Parts: sequence; structure tokens; C-alpha cells
Amino acid sequence: MPELNTPTAPEAATASLPRFDDFGLAPPILQALAEQGYQHPTPIQAQAIPVVLQGRDVMGAAQTGTGKTAGFSLPIIQQLLSHANTSASPARHPVRALILTPTRELADQVADNVKSYSRHTPLRSAVVFGGIDMAPQTAALRAGVEILIATPGRLLDHVQQKTLNLSQTEIFVMDEADRMLDMGFLPDLQRIINLLPKQRQNLMFSATFSPEIKKLASSFLKNPQLIEVARSNATAERVTQIIYKVEEEAKRDAVVHLLKQREIRQVIVFSNTKIGASRLARELERAGVKASAIHGDKTQAERMAALEAFKAGGIDVLVATDVAARGLDIAELPCVINYDLPYNAEDYVHRIGRTGRAGASGDALSLYCEKDARLLADIEKLIKQKLTPVELEDFHPRSARGERTDRSERSDRSDRQADRSDRRTERAPRSASAPIPRKEKVDPWFLKPYEPAAPAVPIEEKPVDPRNTKAAPKRAALLGGRSKT
Ligand code: AMP
Repeated sequence: MPELNTPTAPEAATASLPRFDDFGLAPPILQALAEQGYQHPTPIQAQAIPVVLQGRDVMGAAQTGTGKTAGFSLPIIQQLLSHANTSASPARHPVRALILTPTRELADQVADNVKSYSRHTPLRSAVVFGGIDMAPQTAALRAGVEILIATPGRLLDHVQQKTLNLSQTEIFVMDEADRMLDMGFLPDLQRIINLLPKQRQNLMFSATFSPEIKKLASSFLKNPQLIEVARSNATAERVTQIIYKVEEEAKRDAVVHLLKQREIRQVIVFSNTKIGASRLARELERAGVKASAIHGDKTQAERMAALEAFKAGGIDVLVATDVAARGLDIAELPCVINYDLPYNAEDYVHRIGRTGRAGASGDALSLYCEKDARLLADIEKLIKQKLTPVELEDFHPRSARGERTDRSERSDRSDRQADRSDRRTERAPRSASAPIPRKEKVDPWFLKPYEPAAPAVPIEEKPVDPRNTKAAPKRAALLGGRSKT
């Protein structure tokens, strides 16, 4: 019996999966993907690529970690290939695709991806974000780029300085739209949208869909195709979640204990506040753990250095706030630890989405104190899963042994005050004195097909005066925010 072409079991399993060459992508793109080691498109790529190639607007419900960047970048590169040229004239390289991201780190990562996917084509790309010198960005823009990746504040700075013209933009991508709104970028987004030609393709991606996001979407997407691969609770399915019940003053010891007991390397520990993140990183260092904090008070250079050291294995623990951690592309992170349960349940989903990526499994360990009961209830409601706090095995914290911890040596009152003001600056749009806003937890809209509504905000009609861009309302001067220079 000839058995030559009988696939083996693993081959048979992958034979039915879609392939990148099914989409009609050009050979230079396929070559880049092969070099990247991508064998099959991820679910969002399989859904998004054909739709984007058709020129349709897209509303994508997907988190970072699903492969959404290639989901929009690959068809953009394919569509722009008809304009690709090797002319030295900047006029032959106008911005044709604009990709907006909320944070500098995400902008950098998206730009890296776009560069590698387009490296065998003559298309040019560049990234502009705040916190660093504008001059090299200006030089790149002046030379001409077809694909521009940017954070909103710095993009408007370049517009104001007339180093950027967006009048030939054909494709506009708004990545992580929910975080853009969280960070107070709505006025900047409206200004930017007004700078674009009316005739264009729009792609919007968001991990969560609040009423504000839907309003924004309905204001600028035209008859969008809804693409949904991971509901906001889907990440939880491949992540093992454990909630450890500990006393507040034993939390830092608990982190050290977990790191040692589980021999954890490469973990992001989430803190709700910048001051808490810095303090915990210092504490961990004192306990012999290689740790660094990453948050909005750190300079861009410091954050990049910490991220690089973490990726290279020089740092085992990155202590991060939600804003700083958003969009970090750290492949195969085995574990995340919630030092604090987040104030918003959706942040919990974002946090645990740092692990269990690209189909791998991961552990999400959370520290829980009695005062967190409401926060835990919100999380359970959102992910539709019961999370029962358990005791941490073999844990004998210094506080329980009657030893003084660093926290008890400090003035608790000044810590609390500092944390309050810290929270205010980390999440600028929120008033510190106001109660923490209660977001809609389970949005039934997630469960039904997208129905475009009439534009709720007449964005297109608002006049734009780029001279006013400096007067934008206060927002987090954090990742992706306007440079202070
Ligand atoms: P993203 O959600 O775009 O941030 O992508 C998450 C991670 O998955 C990144 O490290 C990508 O390089 C990787 N990735 C994206 N597409 C694929 C694919 N088709 N196969 C394997 N890895 C991928």
C-alpha cells in the first residue's frame, strides 16, 4: 500500500488550519512571515486579513497577545504595495497608513512588527512618540514614510510643527482604543481624525467595549465588520488563576515567598500605584530578587532599559502599574502576580492576558486582603467565574512572627496620602476625590453582532486648529503622552 502522502497525526491536525498564502499576500510579505517563524495565522489574523484586504472598516474585539498587530499590519502592507517605490523623493512617500497607539511601548512594538513584516518591500515606516527628542523623528518624516505609527500627543506636536502631513492617509488604525479613552486621549483623537481625508479605511481595535468606545466607533467607522476572537473573559480559560488570602502587611513577604516557592522567573507584578510599584521593587531587591519598577514617573529611557533588561533575563521581576504594562509584548510570560487587585475588573483581564499568550498556558496569582471583597466580586462577575481565596502554603510572614516589616516602620498615613496623589496622576482623567467609577461589567453588546448606530458625535464637523493642540485638557503625562519639552 503506498503510504507516501499520508499525513502523520500532527500534520493532519495542522493541515486544516488556514495558511498565510491563502490570503493572496505578496511573496515579499510571505517571505518575511516565514523568516519570523509564523506558520499559521492566529484566529484574529484569519478573520481580519481578508476583511481588511477588501477595504472594509473593521471593529476588532481583541487584546494584545492575540496577534492582532499582524492582523492589521499585513493587509495594510499588502494594500500599500501598489504605491511602493524606491524613489528618493519624499513626495513619493506620503503617509498612507496611520496607526495610533496609546503608549510609547506599544507604538515601538507595533513599529518593530511593521518593519519586520515589510522588510522585503520598498515601503517605509517610522514611529513617533513623546518623551524623546523630536529631531530624529522629524528627519524620518521629512524623508517620507508610507506607514506611520504614533502616540496621539507627539503626532499632534509634529502636525503643529508642520513636519507631518496626513492629507494622503488612506488607512487609519486606532489600536487599544479603550486604553486611549482611559488615558484621556479623546480630544486628541478627534483632532487627529479631523486631519485625515474623509475617504479612508478605518480599523479600530479594543479589548473592551464601554458605551464610550461604542460612541467613538459609531462616530468614525463606516459599516464596520465586527471581528471578535477573544471576549473579555476568554483569556481566563487558559490561565490558571489562584487567589491567595494574605494580611495587608504581609503582601510583600508573600510575593517573595511565591517567587521562591514556585521558582518563578520572568514575572510582572502589578501594583495599583506608582509609589507602591517603586516601593515593592526596592523591597524585592533587598530580599535578593532582581526587580525593577516600570511606571509613568520613570523616564522613557528608564522604562525601555527596564523592559530590555527584563526581556534579556537581567531582571526577573518587573513591577508595573496598569498603564505602564499596557501593550507590553513579552512573549510566553509564564506568570503574573497581582500584588493589588485592580480597581477596575477589566484591568484584571488585561493583566492576566500578559500570560497564557498565543495559546500557551500561564499562571495568574493574586494577593487578596479582606478589604478587597468588592473588587474580587467585580472580577468574578466580569469573568463569570468563581475565584475562592486560598491560604498560601508554608507562608510564615515576618508580621505574623511579630517582626517589624518595612511598612510598619513607616508612617502609614503619609503612605496613604502619597498613594492617593499617585493614583490621581497615574489615571489623570479620574478625580481622586470622586469614587472609583463603576464600569459596565458584562456588556451584552459583546454577545451580539455589531449594529452601526447613527453618529453620536459630529466629529467631522468640528474645525481643527492645530495651534490649539497644546491646550488639550489635562491627561496623564505618561506613556504616549505629550512630551514635556
Ligand atoms: P500581538 O497581539 O500583535 O501583540 O502579538 C502577540 C505575539 O504573537 C507577538 O509576539 C507576535 O510576534 C506573535 N505572533 C503574531 N502572529 C503570530 C503567528 N501567526 N504565529 C506565531 N506568533 C505570532
